[in-house]
This record gives sequence, C-alpha cells and structure tokens, in this order.
Amino acid sequence: MATRSGSGREGTRVAQPEHALEVDYSEVEGRTYGCIDNCALCCLCQPELLPDEERSFRQDPVRREGVADRHISQEVTGAAIKLRGAHGSCYFLRDRRCQIYDSRPHFCRSFPINVFVGWRVQPNANLSCRGVGLPGEDLKVLSESILRGLGERKLSDEAREAGKVFADFVRNTRATWGAQSFSSVRAAARALEDDFVDELGLSRILTYAEHGRTRQNAPPADIAKLARRAEPEADVTARALIDGTELFDLPDLSLLPIYIDDKLTWRIFKLVGNEILGYVLSEDGSTSESSRTDPADVDLLPFTPSGKEAFRAYMRTVNSRDCFLGHAAYLCDTDGYEYNFAQVYLGAIANNALDLWWRSSFLALLAGKEQLGAEEVREGVVFFDMDLLDLPTIGAFI
Ligand code: SF4
Ligand code: SF4
Repeated sequence: MATRSGSGREGTRVAQPEHALEVDYSEVEGRTYGCIDNCALCCLCQPELLPDEERSFRQDPVRREGVADRHISQEVTGAAIKLRGAHGSCYFLRDRRCQIYDSRPHFCRSFPINVFVGWRVQPNANLSCRGVGLPGEDLKVLSESILRGLGERKLSDEAREAGKVFADFVRNTRATWGAQSFSSVRAAARALEDDFVDELGLSRILTYAEHGRTRQNAPPADIAKLARRAEPEADVTARALIDGTELFDLPDLSLLPIYIDDKLTWRIFKLVGNEILGYVLSEDGSTSESSRTDPADVDLLPFTPSGKEAFRAYMRTVNSRDCFLGHAAYLCDTDGYEYNFAQVYLGAIANNALDLWWRSSFLALLAGKEQLGAEEVREGVVFFDMDLLDLPTIGAFI
C-alpha cells in the first residue's frame, strides 16, 4: 500500500535507543471495539501475507491450499490468501468462522487497526468495522501491541523511507511555489467544517480547488477565506451523481465497495445499464439480487442536526489522518504540482465529503428514509471508511 509524512497533531515519543519514533495515538485513544459474532466483514478483504507468513503458509499442507500468488489489487505486491469463488470471502472462512484462527495472518490480527507510517506512525481505526465503539478491547492498547509485534526496527526503517518520500514532496511543492504546512491546511479545513455539510459550501471549495490562487505558505485563515469567497461554480449535484455511479461501474465484483448492514448482511452494488443493482453476497462468491435503483433518484438528503454533527465528526477524523494528507500529496504529485497544496487538500476533503454524503443518501433511500440523522450518516461511514483508508497515498500502511 502507500505512505507519507509531515507535521500536524501532537504525537507520543516512544523511547528508542537510537532516535525517537513519533507515534500519534489520537485517533484510537479512548476508543474501544468489540468483535461482532457472525460479522466477518474483515474476511472479505483479501489478506496480504508478510514474507515470513508466506513461507509458513506454503510449508503447511492445509494452509498452502489457500495461498494466492497475487492480490486482486495490482498495487499490492507479494502473496495473499485466495478469495472463494474469485470474489467471495477469504478461502479459510466457513460459516463466518475462520478455520485457521490461531495461525491467521498479521493482517487479520490487526483488524480494525490500520497502521500508517509517514513522517510518524499513526494507527487508524477502520470505521467500516461495526465493532468499533462497542465495549470491549481498548484500541490504543491493541495498537500498542501491534506496534510491539512489528518491532521498533521495522517501524523505524519504514518511517525513514516514508520520511524521505514526504521530504521529496515538500521540496517539490516549494520548488513550484505551492507549499503549505500540513498544520495550515488542516487548520483551514477545520475552519471550513460547516461548509463540508452544505451544498453551497462544497461548491465554493471545489471551485476554489480548481481555480483559486493561493500564495505559498498562506495563513490558514487566508486559505479558508479564499475558499469561502470562491464563486460556487461547481455543480455539486451533478458531481455527486457521476461519482456515485462511477463507484459501482467496475467490471470485477471483487473490486466493488462492500457494505455490511445492521443485520450483518454483506451487500455489493453494481451499475448495470442505467441502474444500480444491489446484491447479497455469500461466502462462496455467489450473489442474489436484492435491489434496483435509478441513480437519478438519489438526492443529497438534508441533514438533521445530529446527522450534521456526526458528519462533521467523521470529517474531523479524516482531516486528522496522516494517510489522507498523504493522499492529497499523492494527488498533487500526479497533477505535476500544478496547484497549491491547500487547494489540492481542501478539494480532496470536499470530494470525499460529497462521496460520503451521496453514499449515506443512497443507503437511506434504500431504507426508505428522507433525512440523514446520526444513524444514517453512521451507515454511510460504515460503507465508506474502508475505501477512504484504501485511497492511494504517499507513505505506507504496514
Ligand atoms: S469487521 Fe470488525 S466486528 Fe466484523 S468480524 Fe471484523 S473485527 Fe469483528
Ligand atoms: S485468515 Fe481467517 S481471519 Fe483472516 S480473513 Fe481469512 S477467515 Fe478471516
């Protein structure tokens, strides 16, 4: 996967013999999780195998049957576990029980924690896991245990490599007069919090992202002012419709976003002709049709006050994630550093806010709801967060 670095929120210094490795536990601090029996959503994500695990799996007469030479994602190099029926669950899942539980890979043991290494280490909680927030294991304690298992040497080596990538990124933005400090773009996004839950606000930010003019190292208040003053030229409704339908327009079922509903049914959606077909997915990869939706019927639904607050809270989490900052850096890089980093960063947040708003509205429509309360936004986040954590970024998840 990817990596990145920068500065931003407070982190914790972990005592190290050679140099201090910064770990930011802020996302997992004070959060618990309880694994839900019969959920197994994480067993739909093809587990990667670390080199040592691959050796051990290949030497075992039972486990070697489940090893795939390639991951379904071309970006993932190295071995992984096969999927059942090419797009079903992990090869080792039967009746939503892991058949190799005691020797399951690091990937499975870490879930729902994703450890991102950029200029520092930051454990993220995968909010597609419905167990996050339930009483149970302390996610900070789990994160600490995962980091101990990875070992300081590996973490330091990864952080050193990722640090170089981020340093290159910063140099490139300075050379093209588009640099902004990471703390500035995050502060600007915090100042625009209300605009991410408002069509007009989103339109202004998206227009600013494409046409704004920002001077290098502008103060956060100036960046936010420029975004708010932009003409609202971007057609938010049209973009949401295009993004929403493109999301499901993939030929391979294994690449479609997965949603686990509150009854623990696994659902996938696919664009077929002019309709979005919903399917219930089974472990063996078989599907049965469950819904048909005309994408044009999906309006961006209004928020209730609690829905708005839930949405804002999630966007704050996105804004604090180093992997998301790395995603914006990745976009800057692929655009050839054409735009100021503040524009790219705020544009990326606005695009993802729009995606989440559309997905929440889509699920709410299927459930016959007309407004987005906290519950509907939470369903949107369950559907969305796994994909957000999978966005291309500079830096690496390990
Ligand atoms: S997604 Fe979360 S709740 Fe579901 S099985 Fe995995 S860890 Fe447990
Ligand atoms: S190895 Fe076990 S825990 Fe891991 S994805 Fe497969 S079935 Fe799930």
